[in-house]
Amino acid sequence: MAPVPRRLFLPKQYMKKIEKFKMLIEQPGRVVITTHQKPDADALGSSLGLAGFLKKKGHEVCVITPTDYPNFLHWMSGDEDVVVYSAEKEKEIGQIVEKADLVFCLDFSSLDRINELGEMVRNTQGKKVLIDHHLQPEDFADFIKWDIKAAATAELIYDLIVQLGEGHLIDKDIAECLYAGIMTDTGNFKHPNTTENVFAVCGELVKLGADVSKVSRNIYDSNSVGRLRLLGHALSERLTVFPEYKTAFIALHQKDLQRFNAQTGDTEGFVNYALSITGVRLAALFSDSGDIIKISFRSTGDFSVNELARKYFNGGGHKNAAGGRSELPLEETINKFTNLLPECFEAMEQNKMSYAKDI
Ligand code: 5GP
Ligand code: MN
Repeated sequence: MAPVPRRLFLPKQYMKKIEKFKMLIEQPGRVVITTHQKPDADALGSSLGLAGFLKKKGHEVCVITPTDYPNFLHWMSGDEDVVVYSAEKEKEIGQIVEKADLVFCLDFSSLDRINELGEMVRNTQGKKVLIDHHLQPEDFADFIKWDIKAAATAELIYDLIVQLGEGHLIDKDIAECLYAGIMTDTGNFKHPNTTENVFAVCGELVKLGADVSKVSRNIYDSNSVGRLRLLGHALSERLTVFPEYKTAFIALHQKDLQRFNAQTGDTEGFVNYALSITGVRLAALFSDSGDIIKISFRSTGDFSVNELARKYFNGGGHKNAAGGRSELPLEETINKFTNLLPECFEAMEQNKMSYAKDI
């Protein structure tokens, strides 16, 4: 038997909306699904999993991403129909969003995470549905399914489909998209968000046809030689450790990315190597795209990198995994970060509430 969905539409004013929502889903219409920039496996997997389901319900579905995404995600069913935003397509995409009856926003909590699409979504007359597990969601949607305890948005999509009484519509393709999102957002089932429900849902997805080995190979074993060499370079030349602050970071210069011909997604997971050092509780990856510095933060325990990213680096995310950006040059960005380390360390050691809280 499928696990009982634990989550309803939140907060309380939305509780009654499930029936209204069901009516919208029953009525075939034009649906847009969008997700955050540089989509990861959860962002794209939940989008394509939901798209597969809604197509079976008779909807005309268009998945639009604000940017491109890594090559190791192109195996997902429905990938060929994804519309990737570009300035040339702005008008066409604007019309699609404008005409949509329903717009799903998956795996992000604020409209600034979808770049130019943000204003299009804000202004559309279509009903907006936010399904997400990040902290501090922006209040822009008509329907919200939000749970920070969910390991992945894909887990929420599974819940939603079951909650609608449509679990039987999840086929192998949909199951693999959702499984990919859960697998990656739990760090391959090792982060603290790997709950009993995660295993129950994944068990169901396997029962519904998900090929665990295929998904895992497609995502984790599809390295280019360039990516592996970039990783080698990052670890041997660009890793800095501050044992006294239980912190390590990797800083990739623009010339590194150019030298190894880095593609979208090539640096994904690098930050985890810094976090894997014995004793390290805070890790960062700085990546100089030449335009801005993209930052990934990871932590263990109660230290909230969401708060660090939000307060100092114009970003956010989860307590133990967050991202941000800096418009300062790389060296200055690193200096800013290292200057914050005594403060972070104190918070880590004292479990200060301001850094330990969930929201
Ligand atoms: P990553 O380091 O893998 O890019 O992101 C880690 C987590 O933080 C993901 O859940 C991602 O969605 C979120 N995240 C990454 N960058 C940003 C950002 O600039 N703003 C916010 N709000 N969240 C981010
Ligand atoms: Mn996610």
